[in-house]
Amino acid sequence: MSLSDASSAGPQGQPPRGLERPLLPGAMLGVLGGGQLGAMFAMAARRMGYRVTVISDAADVPAARHADRVELVDYGNLEQLAAVAATIDAVTFEFENVPAEAGRAMAAVTRVHPSPDVLATTQDRGREKAFLSRHGFDAAPHRLITSHEELLEAVEAVGLPAVLKTASFGYDGRGQLRLSDRSQLDAAWESLGAGRLVLEAWVDFTMELSVVVARGGDATAAAFTPSHNAHARHILDVASCPAAISEEVAAQAQEVACRIAAALDLVGVACIEFFLTRDNRLLVNEIAPRPHNSGHLTIEAAATSQFEQQVRAVCGLPLGATDPMSPAAMANLLGDLWSDGEPDWAAALAVPGVRLHLYGKASARPGRKMGHLTACRPTVDEAIAAVIEARRRACPQPLTAE
Ligand code: AMP
Repeated sequence: MSLSDASSAGPQGQPPRGLERPLLPGAMLGVLGGGQLGAMFAMAARRMGYRVTVISDAADVPAARHADRVELVDYGNLEQLAAVAATIDAVTFEFENVPAEAGRAMAAVTRVHPSPDVLATTQDRGREKAFLSRHGFDAAPHRLITSHEELLEAVEAVGLPAVLKTASFGYDGRGQLRLSDRSQLDAAWESLGAGRLVLEAWVDFTMELSVVVARGGDATAAAFTPSHNAHARHILDVASCPAAISEEVAAQAQEVACRIAAALDLVGVACIEFFLTRDNRLLVNEIAPRPHNSGHLTIEAAATSQFEQQVRAVCGLPLGATDPMSPAAMANLLGDLWSDGEPDWAAALAVPGVRLHLYGKASARPGRKMGHLTACRPTVDEAIAAVIEARRRACPQPLTAE
């Protein structure tokens, strides 16, 4: 799905500063963060003829293997970041847990997409929820909490069961606790750090969905087909696309994603995660202002990958087509699979249609994302069965951390 929304372009409908002319291949792109999302961005950018600088606070990171240059930085050292940014034509992010100030320091000297304001909104659950309410997007009932007293008031307002989440720096279920009884409140308040928290009503969803959306500086937006996301231990386990939902719900999810991108004035890629309720309502769970684990299958299964789309959006090029090329599924490969040594990749790759992505991380800790498998098959169910079978063959009995 593509949408054009001229109303949210810059002054008098002009593109934002710096996007009047596209950045063409040969330009130096910077990616803040060095994980697998940065690695796959770098691969897409270099395939298209761009050069890539990885800006990271650690040297031995997956993206470094695919970069022309690695700049080792301290995210709190704004002068250092500005000096690095001065050597780069456009900077983007691969994770949102960097201080928005770091983005602002770089934006003073070069173009930075998405803008540090988008980062500031989406890296804090309190601000993100306020943004969603302000713009009329549906989310689970919630309250922002900054004191124990407010927690008690929030429980009255939202009810139980509910989920208590840290406002910032939570991911993959870290920094959150499910509450079903008032007797749990004191311990939960203490264990989550007694700081800025969000209490959210528990949603009895039938499915978790996500839509990756890109938006260019000319205010055109393009959404990929919704994926169905299945989690295990709060970490994405299997994503499959297209999700088994009605055409109406799929179109609505894409439309909401495009409207959120416009309301954020996003230039770049974002992932909008949704809960689908029993009465077929879509509630926005989270916004990630970057490519997303659930969009990895676009590498094999869509006309343009989410990473190429990020390159195009950041460089001011036309966005690519988002049409699905095949039903597909993606299964994450967590460090647990390495409990008995290197998994048997030859056995996994004997499953027809399966592709292997390994991120080159040196140590395989339980729960750590080490790679993923993607399969394109004639039906989604066959694609899911293929990645699960391939993962089982790679490691028949993984050690599972509880
Ligand atoms: P989050 O980090 O907010 O995406 O939460 C991680 C996972 O926890 C989600 O993908 C859901 O499976 C679950 N979860 C989070 N919030 C809720 C909620 N309000 N109701 C039910 N499940 C939730």
